[in-house]
Amino acid sequence: MSRVADMVVVLRKRAYREQDALLLLFSHHHGKISAVARGARSAKGRLTASTEPLAVARMELYQGRSSLMTVTEAELVSLNAGVRRDLWRTGRAAMLADAADELTSDLDAAPAVYDTLVAAFVSLGSDRDPTPVYLHALWRLLGAAGLKPEFDRCQHCGAPWTTPPWFWRAGAGPVDGACHMAGDTPLLPGALQWLRLMDAQTGPAELGRVQAAPAVYAVLDQQARDFLIYHVGRVPRAFRFWDAVAPMAAPRPKGPAGAPRSKGMTV
Ligand SMILES: [Zn+2]
Repeated sequence: MSRVADMVVVLRKRAYREQDALLLLFSHHHGKISAVARGARSAKGRLTASTEPLAVARMELYQGRSSLMTVTEAELVSLNAGVRRDLWRTGRAAMLADAADELTSDLDAAPAVYDTLVAAFVSLGSDRDPTPVYLHALWRLLGAAGLKPEFDRCQHCGAPWTTPPWFWRAGAGPVDGACHMAGDTPLLPGALQWLRLMDAQTGPAELGRVQAAPAVYAVLDQQARDFLIYHVGRVPRAFRFWDAVAPMAAPRPKGPAGAPRSKGMTV
């Protein structure tokens, strides 16, 4: 492949040479691409805006002798500016970008990953609660990588979901009381309910439509994070950053304390 024209979402942008940038892109039809964008760090560079992290752009890339591709043309489609308005949203978007990077190989087409990232950045930039959007999108990315458990049956014996108690097994997912072993953690009924309802919502506009109580989100957040780390074998950078800043970045809840806000289903 020497020339690619595709829609891309920018996962990372790093300084390279004097005014150039090293980009990590996720393209719609060609998967993950590392590329150089010349002059993309200068204030007036024609590639500067379209190569900002989290931006969506239509790009043309060329591969010469180097293993890296070079961006030859870029037309900005969306900066996803709404995601940048607070650390809470930016941090979640960066975690999804890192997860997509960790879960895919270069030039391995995965349109579902592209679609999930684009839909998630739009939703994270809206007024929707970012927590369920992030959790839902992370499970979709894990699903695109073939790692998502089935949430309606025991992941050890395959028995369909019946009655509690249920447990969460690291790296595997929900298991029933009959298959429970030491090391499994009790699974809050609300958390299992959220996972099952979330899993049934597959449209791009439905990311984060299923709401839960903050205590349930806290459990779901930890489980999704541990699941990803179990499968990729390390803690991605954006997750380490989140651990450090999340306690300070937390937005004040609107409405009555602990009450989920906005429309949608609540578990
Ligand atoms: Zn079982």
